[in-house]
Amino acid sequence: MQIYMPTNVYSENNCVMNHKKELAALGNKALLVTGKHSSQANGSLADVKQALQEEGISYVVFDKIEENPSIETVMQARELGVNENVDFVVGIGGGSPMDAAKAIALMVANPKEDESILYEAREFQALPVAEVPTTAGTGSEATPYAILTIHARRTKQSISYRIYPALALLDSKYLKTESIDTLVNTTVDALAHLIESYLNTNANSYNRMYSEKGLRLFAEMKDDLLQCRRFGGEPRQTLSDEVFDKLMQMSATAGMAITHTSTSLPHGLSYAVTYELGVPHGKAVGIFLPGFLTFYQEKEDVRAVLRQMCFASVDDFTEYMDELLGKVEISDDLWKKDVEMIMGNQAKLKNYPFTMDEETLYKFRR
Ligand code: NAP
Ligand code: ZN
Repeated sequence: MQIYMPTNVYSENNCVMNHKKELAALGNKALLVTGKHSSQANGSLADVKQALQEEGISYVVFDKIEENPSIETVMQARELGVNENVDFVVGIGGGSPMDAAKAIALMVANPKEDESILYEAREFQALPVAEVPTTAGTGSEATPYAILTIHARRTKQSISYRIYPALALLDSKYLKTESIDTLVNTTVDALAHLIESYLNTNANSYNRMYSEKGLRLFAEMKDDLLQCRRFGGEPRQTLSDEVFDKLMQMSATAGMAITHTSTSLPHGLSYAVTYELGVPHGKAVGIFLPGFLTFYQEKEDVRAVLRQMCFASVDDFTEYMDELLGKVEISDDLWKKDVEMIMGNQAKLKNYPFTMDEETLYKFRR
């Protein structure tokens, strides 16, 4: 058994300002990588700028990261980073800017290489990366993964490199500008990480600690989330500070879980659904969770997952997920291609701890 979590993770109020010295210690000039709007609205970008200014560290901003970031955007940011001679990268935002920051850090550190190195053997080093999450879902601040869209293949895939952030600064106040849809989708992504890590060929009693903790956190606030969905207003009007803190903690813990095991079938099946139908990542994964638990519901490990979430049965879990998340229509054609693709994806299949055949996998769509 092995446990390896090299990222220095802090989680508290005013986290960025409190740890400005550790942030500044990563280099002399930073590339701040963000999405188009949200980091300005929730205050995270302003906090990072202020922290760096107070420490006398200069920076440039690349704020064009799209959802499900593409290789093309990573290369555009690389150009800015190389021209500006940056020596560390700060990802600020949801999983998209955080993942992009890791890939950009690799490309800036190797200015003579083209994008093909992203998916080749891991022989190059990346610049140091810090991450400031503003969604509670991907846990990218605590994982070494970076998932990019490959338009040429009409799908998404994690780059070959494992780039652990040096520093992760978590402050749940940034979550308060989220819409109910973004909040629910991202929470379900974190939930999927916890479940797919627990029910995983690579799971052991060390790394299951993360899933167990995260699933208990989810159980403590799952009713608040459903109330918030039913209320239909903004999450900050119905959820307490304590719930926002728990969401942030659950997400980072779930990131630590998949760092040790990777994900499994729901994630594998989600990528084509996101690419072809534009369904957000968390929702595209979440629609496959009931199927993931259904076919082996008599196994003790599946029962343990349900117990930790405080659901009496898979049916109760399914009912909850349907109301929280809603459904997605997947055409027969897309579903056939998706299933065939996964049946040929040994990396995802081998993580599933039970037997899986094509006929059973077909039933994951409800
Ligand atoms: P995201 O794609 O980063 O962001 C989704 C939307 O939420 C964007 O419109 C973004 O706006 C907005 N947003 C972000 N923070 C917000 C806030 N505090 N308030 C209001 N809006 C906010 O979503 P995500 O689900 O966090 O990340 C998904 C990506 O992460 C996918 O590419 C997925 O494959 C990847 N992922 C990575 C890992 C990993 O281990 N590395 C794990 C799971 C998933 P802006 O565009 O304006 O910022
Ligand atoms: Zn995910």
